[in-house]
Amino acid sequence: MRQALAQKEFRLAYQPIVDLRNRRTVGVEALIRWPRTLIGPDAFIPMAEKTGLIRDITKQVCLLAAEDCITRRIPGSVRLSINLSAADAETPESVELLSNLSRALGGAILNVELTERCLLAPERCGPVIRAIRALGIQVHLDDFGTGYANLQSLVELALDGIKIDHRLTRCLDDSRAAREIVRHLGRMAGTLGFSITAEGVETETQARWLSVLGIHRAQGWLFGQPRFVEDYPALRSAIKTNN
Ligand code: C2E
Ligand code: MG
Ligand code: MG
Ligand code: MG
Repeated sequence: MRQALAQKEFRLAYQPIVDLRNRRTVGVEALIRWPRTLIGPDAFIPMAEKTGLIRDITKQVCLLAAEDCITRRIPGSVRLSINLSAADAETPESVELLSNLSRALGGAILNVELTERCLLAPERCGPVIRAIRALGIQVHLDDFGTGYANLQSLVELALDGIKIDHRLTRCLDDSRAAREIVRHLGRMAGTLGFSITAEGVETETQARWLSVLGIHRAQGWLFGQPRFVEDYPALRSAIKTNN
C-alpha cells in the first residue's frame, strides 16, 4: 500500500446521488479504487487504518479529488462527498486538507461522510468536526442504522445529515418495520432539519418506497455505478444544480 501510494496507483470512482423527485444528479460520492489489485476498499481501508497509512490515503484522496475536479473539469456546481476514517476525524490536519480541497473545488460544496465508528472518541473528533463544519463543509453520518444509530451525535455535533445503510434499504420491500423506521427518520429529518440519503438502492420498488416514505435523496446501482471520471461523460452535463 505504501508503494501504491508513492506510485499513485489509487484512483477515485464517482457514484451519482440523485433527487428521487426528478432523478437528477445532485451530487457524487468519491469512492477509492486500487485498480491494479482489484482489492476493494472494504478490505484495504481497514488494513490502512490498522497500519496507520490511512492518513496518507486520505491525503491522496483529497489530492485526487482536487485533480479530477481541476483537470477533468468536474463542474464547480457538483456536491462532492468524500469518506473519512476515524483517525481522520480525530486529526486537526484533516481540517487543512479539506479546506484545500474545498478551495480547489471552487466553493463550499464539499460533503464529508463519517461512520459511527468515527464518533467513538467525542472529545477528540468533536473539535475537528466542528472546525470542518465551520468551513461550510457538510458532515453526514454514513451507514446509518447498522451501528449504534448515534442520534445523539446528530444533535451534539449538529451533523448535517445521515445516509441510510444499504442493509436497511434492502429490507424496504419485505419489512414493514424497516419502512416504519425509515418513515420516522424522514419525519425527524424534516423537523430537526437534517438531510437523509438512502444508499444501495437497486430496484424501482425500493425507490418507490423511499418516495412514499418521504425520502428524496438516493444513491445506488439503479441510478449509476461508481465510475472513473473519464467513463462518466454525463457527470459534466447531468449536474447543473447546487443543492
Ligand atoms: P460507503 O461509504 O458506505 O460507500 C457505499 C458503498 O456501497 C460503496 O462500496 C459502493 O460502491 C456500494 N454501493 C453503491 N451502490 C450500491 C448498490 O446499489 N448496492 C450495493 N450492494 N452496494 C452499492 P465501495 O466503493 O466498495 O466502498 C466500501 C466502503 O469503503 C465505503 O462504504 C467506505 O466506508 C469505504 N471507502 C470507500 N472509499 C473510501 C475513501 O476514499 N476513504 C475512506 N476512508 N473510506 C472509503
Ligand atoms: Mg460513504
Ligand atoms: Mg454507507
Ligand atoms: Mg459502507
